[in-house]
Amino acid sequence: MPHYPHLLAPITLGSVTLKNRVIMGSMHTGLEETGDWQRVAAFYTERAHGGVALIITGGIGPNQEGAVFPKASLMCTQQDIDHHSIVTREVHRADGKIIMQILHAGRYADHVHCVAPSPIKSPISRYQPTALSEDEIEKQINDFVRSATYAKRAGYDGVEIMGSEGYFINQFIVKQTNKRNDRWGGSFENRIRLPIEIVRRIRRALDPDFIIIYRLSLIDLVPQGSTFDEVIRLAKAIEKAGATLINSGIGWHEARVPTIATSVPRGAFAWVTKKLIGHISIPVIASNRINTPEIAERLLADGYADMVSMARPFLADAFFVSKAKAGKGAQIAPCIACNQACLDHTFSGQLTSCLVNPRACHETKLVMSPVEQKKRIGIVGAGPAGLSSAIACAERGHAVTLIEKASEIGGQLNLAKRIPGKEEFHGFIAWYREMIAHHQITLCLDTIGSARKLEEFDEIIIATGVKPRNPHIQGQEHGNVLTYVEALSETAQIGETVAIIGAGGIGFDVAEYLTHQDPNIAQNPVEWMNQWGIADPATHRGGLAPTGPNPKPAIRKISLLQRKSQKHGDGLGKTTGWIHRSSLKMKNIEFIGGVNYHTIDEHGICISFGEKKENPIRINADTIVLCTGQESHRTLADELIASGRSPHIIGGADEAAELDAKRAINQGVRLASVL
Ligand code: NAP
Ligand code: SF4
Repeated sequence: MPHYPHLLAPITLGSVTLKNRVIMGSMHTGLEETGDWQRVAAFYTERAHGGVALIITGGIGPNQEGAVFPKASLMCTQQDIDHHSIVTREVHRADGKIIMQILHAGRYADHVHCVAPSPIKSPISRYQPTALSEDEIEKQINDFVRSATYAKRAGYDGVEIMGSEGYFINQFIVKQTNKRNDRWGGSFENRIRLPIEIVRRIRRALDPDFIIIYRLSLIDLVPQGSTFDEVIRLAKAIEKAGATLINSGIGWHEARVPTIATSVPRGAFAWVTKKLIGHISIPVIASNRINTPEIAERLLADGYADMVSMARPFLADAFFVSKAKAGKGAQIAPCIACNQACLDHTFSGQLTSCLVNPRACHETKLVMSPVEQKKRIGIVGAGPAGLSSAIACAERGHAVTLIEKASEIGGQLNLAKRIPGKEEFHGFIAWYREMIAHHQITLCLDTIGSARKLEEFDEIIIATGVKPRNPHIQGQEHGNVLTYVEALSETAQIGETVAIIGAGGIGFDVAEYLTHQDPNIAQNPVEWMNQWGIADPATHRGGLAPTGPNPKPAIRKISLLQRKSQKHGDGLGKTTGWIHRSSLKMKNIEFIGGVNYHTIDEHGICISFGEKKENPIRINADTIVLCTGQESHRTLADELIASGRSPHIIGGADEAAELDAKRAINQGVRLASVL
């Protein structure tokens, strides 16, 4: 029996055959803007070598006004054609196929020249767009066609027209953003004229084998979004205009509903894609939160779609498809949907990478060459830093021994996996386990690392992590006070009212954990949809429930305290912080900021506000949880240094402040690349 028979089955589109049903979805990586086109080519070519059938590039603007930001990559000159040719040539050499996404940002563009159907600023943008005249709309269409024609000249196998996620084309389709009363606004027929004309004219300009994917917003998740009847009418018109495939667009960027974060259940929106099946005859692609070959196979086998698109999973592992094909699905590095090194980077102007795989987008810079001289490497600590270093060292050919005092690997990842909505961490730890076995790393669990045990190694890596910071609050020795590690343990006794001290990532996680009756029960997708107010677009315009978000109430009364007076969760991920904040707010968690801590007693904690620390008040709490950050665990490192050894110190043992798995893993892999 072949592995994943539906996923790995070829598909024919006209006279083009794709070798399997897997598409690498479009991602803005920032690579094109580096101007280093060999680097861009290396990124895509590694994925082509990994066996994906079709790659879609990051969004490329058709003109300056449609560029996502001022210096974003465009396809409008001969020089652009020359640059992109470097990429297509290399991908084709690797037996891959690649198409270019044409992305016009419309009112989402981050510059003063942004344009839109109507001059309405988006809630997530800095600039108000200028409304286009009819002549200017014609120019936009011509620029789309020019981009597609140039993409063909650059060697691309096709283009994807970005018609979803609230970008330019979507802004024409939905009444909320299109207030025009000419032939481009008003009735639904007028509002969908733009995408139809774009697809029709591109098809007219290019041969029938040139792939045109249209990314269609199936569920807008914004007020006045399309009904599903309208979605079907548009899909039929797009098919008639000459598209080869329809890709699923899920939610506008400004939607207040998470669509790709880790708390979104796997394949959570595939049911919307399925609703389109049977209404059109061209293949339909499912997307969003598909990250394993198992879920992708199931969606195809159960008729949810004809193909699947995965984007971030190809940052985590370029060889997703070839590993699946070889029956080594357990060795696929999982995308945990954290956004920490991909979207959070994109939205803060940094180059994209991946928390799980720091080589992503650094293929030409972070090279893991086989070692010339095999060394014995001893690593103490099997948290993210130690694990990633161990695997990367072993991959290069070193003999690695990994020593861990706990009875399981994972370190702080074992705390993360207990948080409702962070179940992906289970798979992440399982992957590490698999890779330890695959690379024959000697794993010593329940073992305390010591200077004597480390004598036999050529190189020593200390990854002993962190311990909770002691905030030294008077009375904290009371029995009602727990550290976050204790609070997250299965045996913890937690009362009905809780005060959490410290509102960093862990304070938020603990608050989420304590709102649930049984945090160990896996997420129920229907409950999740209710929580965020997601409805069927066939019955409710845009897929928004008229009653709004409807979460299960918290089972405890929780206060989340911090000394800072800034907004709670300010330091959380750029693209995910709002989700954590909204989730707690909708469950009535009380955010209290700008506090001074006085004393803790059996009734709760006394706090005051302001510099003078006057008039303390009591926050009643049966249980108080300390989430006040971490300190480095580096006794062993200091001992080794004192005895004249030179260990490499990584992760939290090196620097505890603002440590997260992204930094720990990156440091571990980079160290391994030079040992
Ligand atoms: P953190 O982000 O540094 O937060 C520690 C909290 O404790 C802050 O609210 C700080 O705020 C407070 N604090 C620090 N020292 C204190 C003291 N002496 N007394 C009282 N309060 C004190 O650390 P964390 O929450 O432990 O998270 C660790 C790392 O993991 C962070 O880098 C975080 O980004 C990452 N992480 C992220 C997520 C996520 O994004 N969802 C989840 C978990 C962990 P005040 O000084 O204002 O009181
Ligand atoms: Fe996935 Fe996180 Fe890597 Fe982004 S950074 S690709 S979300 S694992």
